[in-house]
Amino acid sequence: MDDVDRAGGSLPDGRPDECTCGGLPPSQGFAFLYKGAIVAPIMVVRMRHTRGHTRNRRSHHGLEAVALATCSNCGSQHRPHHMCLNCGFYKGRVVIDLLAKKKAREARMEAKRAAIRGEEPTAVETK
Ligand SMILES: [Zn+2]
Repeated sequence: MDDVDRAGGSLPDGRPDECTCGGLPPSQGFAFLYKGAIVAPIMVVRMRHTRGHTRNRRSHHGLEAVALATCSNCGSQHRPHHMCLNCGFYKGRVVIDLLAKKKAREARMEAKRAAIRGEEPTAVETK
């Protein structure tokens, strides 16, 4: 670092080149007083790793494709040992009737849209 332009005792942005807390000047890094002692975080590299070491460690950081199972009912992909989110089947039987849920949701949404349009709400069964 060239200290030629800082000979006057100020940083390039005009601040004085001295710490108000009595620690290191700002040009030498961050420092603060804690219980009367100057505390300056100093980073020390304890051990350098080779590129091979680093790359070997990172060889396990790659993303893996998610394993998926095929639904026996509808043939879509779903998480193994989980219910099919497309049809609600698991192990050959209906666990959650997703079709009925979808119909009920559509009815609710249609009632909401009709209310927004200002129409008379149609007979919609509410849970
Ligand atoms: Zn399915």
